[in-house]
Amino acid sequence: MKNVGYYNGVIGPIEQMTIPMDDRAVYFGDGVYDATYAANRIIFEADAHIARFFRSAQALRIAPPVTPEALKSELQRCVELIDSAGEVQVYFQCTRGTALRSHPFPEGAANLLITVRELPLTPLSQKGRAILVEDTRYLHCNIKTINLLPNVMANQRAKEAGCCEAILHRGERVTECSHSNVHILKDGVFHTAPTDHLILPGITRAHLLRVCERLGIPSVEAPFTVEELLSADEVLVSSAGMLGLGICEVDGRSVGGRAPDLLAALQRAMVDDFCRETGYRLPVLD
Ligand code: PLP
Repeated sequence: MKNVGYYNGVIGPIEQMTIPMDDRAVYFGDGVYDATYAANRIIFEADAHIARFFRSAQALRIAPPVTPEALKSELQRCVELIDSAGEVQVYFQCTRGTALRSHPFPEGAANLLITVRELPLTPLSQKGRAILVEDTRYLHCNIKTINLLPNVMANQRAKEAGCCEAILHRGERVTECSHSNVHILKDGVFHTAPTDHLILPGITRAHLLRVCERLGIPSVEAPFTVEELLSADEVLVSSAGMLGLGICEVDGRSVGGRAPDLLAALQRAMVDDFCRETGYRLPVLD
């Protein structure tokens, strides 16, 4: 199959799949999701993404219709069915179920949706540009819900400004980005926001922290400000599809560029880890 859609055990090409009109996703965005990548038909950091998915579901009192082990094998099944053995995105979502529109939780089982499609990881060889956007989201940003409207609006503003990401801030404090986490390098130290309710605890962020430890790069998990971001030695963003993309411009102002070797070392280690786990040669640094 050129791409794979899955809904409660039914499988077909994504464009041909349909879901019930009263899936709770439609009226309420009442669901959680997670996303990672596979290459060589091996899902990268599968256990960490599945564990976060179950944590998000538990936070919203949604009971996924499968165990973590069963979810892993359903994801693997979908990855086996796509034609491509290259870089593919693996997306999975669970909504609270299907019922006529009514706010209280419905009776009955939750719905599981999976998509697998070809999507290359973001090349890291060129830096990206970003804009700053006030973070007006609610206060449960640690839960990976499918309520992403402020993220969508911020991301579109970035796109319209010719940028790859919108860096969110609440007043002076930088939180994260529209679809990634943001970090800075300053005087040889890796700084990233703490995993409180204002950011999504990124799996790639956690991986970057492990890489820092391995490489002997000190790291600090504490809030940092817009001013500190703008005067950082390097600014980088991370997600499952961006394993540490350097940022060269924020709101038209040039940023970073003062610790290229440190940034390159982090990127190299991240890419090496991806290649080691999947056995796939990732061309993102070429
Ligand atoms: N923050 C937000 C708002 C995101 O949507 C994402 C990824 O989707 C991330 C951070 C990065 O998380 P991860 O590294 O687990 O992909």
